[in-house]
Amino acid sequence: MIRSLNPANGETLASFEAHDAFTVDRRLTAAVTAQRAWRKQPVAERMPLLLAMARVLRKNAERYATLITLEMGKPLAEARGEIEKCAVTCDFYAQHAPAFLNDEPVASAASDSRVVYDPLGVLLAVMPWNYPFWQAIRAIAPALAAGNAVVLKHASNVPQCALALDALFEEAGAPAGLFATLLVESPAVRGLIEDARIACVTFTGSTPAGRAIAAAAGHAMKKQVLELGGSDPFIVLADADIPAAAQAALKARFQNTGQSCIAAKRFIVEHGVADAFAELLSDGAARLVVGDPMAAATQIGPMARGNLRDELHAQVQATLAQGATLRVGGRPIDGPGCFYAPTVLDHVTPQMTAAREETFGPAAAILRVASAEEAVVVANGTEFGLGAALWTGDAERARALSRQLDAGAVFVNAIVASDPRLPFGGVKQSGYGRELGVHGLREFTNTKTVWTGPSR
Ligand code: NAP
Repeated sequence: MIRSLNPANGETLASFEAHDAFTVDRRLTAAVTAQRAWRKQPVAERMPLLLAMARVLRKNAERYATLITLEMGKPLAEARGEIEKCAVTCDFYAQHAPAFLNDEPVASAASDSRVVYDPLGVLLAVMPWNYPFWQAIRAIAPALAAGNAVVLKHASNVPQCALALDALFEEAGAPAGLFATLLVESPAVRGLIEDARIACVTFTGSTPAGRAIAAAAGHAMKKQVLELGGSDPFIVLADADIPAAAQAALKARFQNTGQSCIAAKRFIVEHGVADAFAELLSDGAARLVVGDPMAAATQIGPMARGNLRDELHAQVQATLAQGATLRVGGRPIDGPGCFYAPTVLDHVTPQMTAAREETFGPAAAILRVASAEEAVVVANGTEFGLGAALWTGDAERARALSRQLDAGAVFVNAIVASDPRLPFGGVKQSGYGRELGVHGLREFTNTKTVWTGPSR
């Protein structure tokens, strides 16, 4: 049984039987049939579907946003923003995918040689709950544009969002079977990856689950894109605009109630400005409005599940026991929902739990360093490598330092964010492959060489 719970009050919203083997089998076969026809459509003729997806997203935005907030607890205003970002991404690929997929002639000894981008087939997308629409759409839109079909195994705590995505495609007029939600639990994923009808798997979620998926896909010799966890550094050098950095830090850490892979998690600050930065960040965290995620004034909703809150609290407690100081928060909030007080830990060192592990919730860790060089060493001193933010008044220095950071993206004097125009992904234990932009689209293609003789 797959249950939809409201993390703001613990109430059961709905329960669903997982799809049985017959239903899964039928959906996979339908996806194969739909993809065979879809890939034959000229690229430009696939684009009206993406435009229709954007239209349906905008038309139903309020309903979808409400569903997101009910099932995983993010403030409603943020859920609305998530839906609009999905629509923008569909529009982006509708406009640019034809150019991204153009043949590329390459001079060689052939009378004509070129690189073409063919689809792979049916893609399995295994997705998390933290952005229930965005994580799915950012993979599905480019995958469909490239001529693939997609089946989605969504996180078990957002089944209503998963089913709403199913209905979205129907409303957008997608060919039957081209997209399908599979309501299955995670033990079923291995069998799906091994199924001959699946060509490729894209996964977003935790590193342990990513490892299991990579092992299964590796064994089945199927291409994978893995977007895993992160412990993004947010470096503040002494020459930075400290009030601006602290204000950005508040958003970077606490948006989505801290449950974002690219949320800044470790604030690495030069000694001379650390007290000022820590005070501004702590004051901001203490003033955040925590409460009903449906209320307009709310900035911090509940965490998505009780076990995630327990894990975060255990990390905070361990870090304090290791010698960090608590500036604000540090405790679950009493009541039926999964609320956690916005927390700032100071004087964290690289060996402490909050610096070594990913903290997936509203808890910031401040680490103090003596120099920019030490900041880079500390920033690179985790197993992760997703995003990194760097705050400094010296643009030239920023360019040099950004090349030294082990990350898939460096944002200078800005918050790390995903953008459909730019590639997104990580290095090290944060995964491999890229999403979004031209690179993300081509992950879901067969980069094929076509050589035409006679040779010159
Ligand atoms: P998770 O366990 O990695 O779940 C993500 C997706 O993978 C869900 O669809 C889940 O299905 C599925 N899954 C889980 N274990 C699997 C396995 N062994 N084989 C195949 N599929 C599997 O993430 P979570 O438990 O919801 O969150 C825990 C941690 O994951 C967080 O603390 C954070 O570190 C990380 N996370 C990262 C992101 C990100 O954007 N990078 C997003 C969410 C979570 P079920 O729901 O059915 O188990």
